[in-house]
Amino acid sequence: MELNKQSDWVARSLRSVWHPCTQMQHHETVPLIPVSRGKGAWLYDHEGRRYLDAISSWWVNLFGHANPRINAALKDQLDTLEHAMLAGFTHEPVIELSEKLSALTGHVLGHSFYASDGASAVEIALKMSFHSWRNNGKSDKQEFVCLKGSYHGETIGALAVTDVALFKDAYGPLLRASQTVMSPDARNAAEGETASDVARRAAVDVERLFAERADKIAAIIIEPLVQCATGMAMHDPLYLKLVRELCDRHQVHLILDEIAVGCGRTGTFFACEQAGIWPDFLCLSKGISGGYLPLSLVMTRDEIYQAFYSNDVTRGFLHSHSYTGNPLACRAALATLQIFEDDDILNANRVKAARLTAALQPLAQHQQVRNFRNRGMIWAFDAIDATPDFSRRFFATAVEHELLMRPIGATVYMMPPYILDDEEIDGLAANTLAVFDKVMAG
Ligand SMILES: *Cc1c(COP(=O)(O)O)cnc(C)c1O
Repeated sequence: MELNKQSDWVARSLRSVWHPCTQMQHHETVPLIPVSRGKGAWLYDHEGRRYLDAISSWWVNLFGHANPRINAALKDQLDTLEHAMLAGFTHEPVIELSEKLSALTGHVLGHSFYASDGASAVEIALKMSFHSWRNNGKSDKQEFVCLKGSYHGETIGALAVTDVALFKDAYGPLLRASQTVMSPDARNAAEGETASDVARRAAVDVERLFAERADKIAAIIIEPLVQCATGMAMHDPLYLKLVRELCDRHQVHLILDEIAVGCGRTGTFFACEQAGIWPDFLCLSKGISGGYLPLSLVMTRDEIYQAFYSNDVTRGFLHSHSYTGNPLACRAALATLQIFEDDDILNANRVKAARLTAALQPLAQHQQVRNFRNRGMIWAFDAIDATPDFSRRFFATAVEHELLMRPIGATVYMMPPYILDDEEIDGLAANTLAVFDKVMAG
């Protein structure tokens, strides 16, 4: 009865589960795949078919499914402490994680504040920025600046600093206005311009806005190096350096949203390391728990922490989530950081990245491909003259080739877990080419 089981799960899911980021009617033609288990880079369905998780299950999984080391840490934690509230109480996993993260920034970002999902981390950074200015007597600083094509999550506050029409337009009337500046996306290069020229031009746009109204602006929020959800738009690290200088000069906070690009995704542990700068607030989530459990956090500087430190309750940061600093999630994060250390992951990834980039050359040179790009463990390219249903057809064709991939519009991208072996890397490249050719042939 194995055969019935798969379709039964599909039918039951469609009857009772409202799936995220999905026009449910599309499941009349696009397959819904019930996953029965995961192992390493692979997900398995109920009929034993397998799918290479080339996008790390929405960018969260770093070291594979059912990772033995993370599993062992979690089993131990489960028998020790599953959860305790973090107001008035504290515990070993959250303390050790905060210390480790602080050390990774050379103790520049000395305190971590916890939540569960990425959007909440963004909300926290926005609130903290505004509130710290207010505590410092600058309550006029109430505005936020984001980049064209930015994505910072989909709750009402985070959506206000998101600039992806598909997610934002329907809710426009509910959102607080924000200022939008030019994206440093290297694809904006005019004839003869380099990526760093675009970065300089984009920084001038920030300077113009700051010169005009920095006294009203609390913070600018940026996804450093790669604006992921808008379609893997990559920029020169110079941009971050220039914006850091402008923020210092005009007294505006710099919030770096490293929810997708942090945890080694761009080649360094934090993306901002490649620009040689630190922000005032750094948001982490997604990969930090190895893709196991919901965990997010905001790291900040001691000066900002001090702006809230007082005898007066209302000067404190009165924000909380029920699962703030959940011990299981923190323990998964500690196990994840331990793997980075034990296996020298950042260096190992350089070797894997070079192999995948080489294997993808037929796509990079493909006549129907433009803007092939790579940073760290992210690869992307744009399909020329893609049809409006390109993404859905690609997904459906990819599953027939044992691949989990979900293009963003006409942008095909890969964000694999950091554990692919040579065979998996070569298979990923070959199958992506086969899927692309099939989809483009119609
Ligand atoms: C995914 C993402 C978020 C939102 O995280 P959720 O956990 O989905 O709420 C915010 N910012 C960036 C850059 C992201 O990629």
